[in-house]
Amino acid sequence: MEIKHTDSNESDFLERRKCRECAEQKPLKQYAGKESVTCKICAIKLKQERDLEREERIRQIKEVIYIEPKVIKGPKNEERKVIDLRVEKERYHSEKDRTIKIEIIENLLEFYKPTKIAAELGIPRSRVYSRTAKGKESRKKVNKKQYKFNLRSYLNNRLQRFKKRDKNNEFDYTVDDFLEHVGDKPVCYISGKPINLELHKGEYDFDHIIPLAKGGTSALENLGLTISKYNRMKWTMTTEEFREECKFLAHTFETNIYLC
Ligand SMILES: [Zn+2]
Repeated sequence: MEIKHTDSNESDFLERRKCRECAEQKPLKQYAGKESVTCKICAIKLKQERDLEREERIRQIKEVIYIEPKVIKGPKNEERKVIDLRVEKERYHSEKDRTIKIEIIENLLEFYKPTKIAAELGIPRSRVYSRTAKGKESRKKVNKKQYKFNLRSYLNNRLQRFKKRDKNNEFDYTVDDFLEHVGDKPVCYISGKPINLELHKGEYDFDHIIPLAKGGTSALENLGLTISKYNRMKWTMTTEEFREECKFLAHTFETNIYLC
């Protein structure tokens, strides 16, 4: 049996995954995220297709349900365009697609004031105001604001999730306790590689050193800081079991019996 030589090394080999769309084995780097089942190229293609479908759907819906406003005479004999708000209310509430709901509101804004639309449709005013020109402008500003990453609240969040996974116990250790637990120079407890809690956010896990399924708890002593990819490799094994598996695999790789 011949070993396939690629541009990547052996550790990269372990990190390959089959794309659900093009069925190619590709390194994890070429995926948008850990959980992604399609490679980046396919993901972009799929998104474009979805966007086109959505646009087409909205176009069709607009065509079908766009109601020509009636022109009536106002009190001073001026012409006024009106739309039947009862019909619009029904249309709005029977529609599940958020974009189409927005379309309905924006269409109404050409004829009515936001307060009237909100009252007639029975929806919060803020939902209507956010679709006005002013609302759109202020939303752009908010989106532009750079939210500063807060390490403490990030860690707190992760700790809460770690604690919650243990259904049998409650723990009250804090972020400070955690920081003391991992020390000044945190390292991955599986690989020994250094971890920068701020720079590597999203790339490390809080792992139960003794798995919950094997009697471990969410006590701080059982919290192992680890690089996500090593944690995924370790899976539900104990550290001991994992070490044995690694030895076994290392031997297999060295002897090249099964590596193909
Ligand atoms: Zn693909």
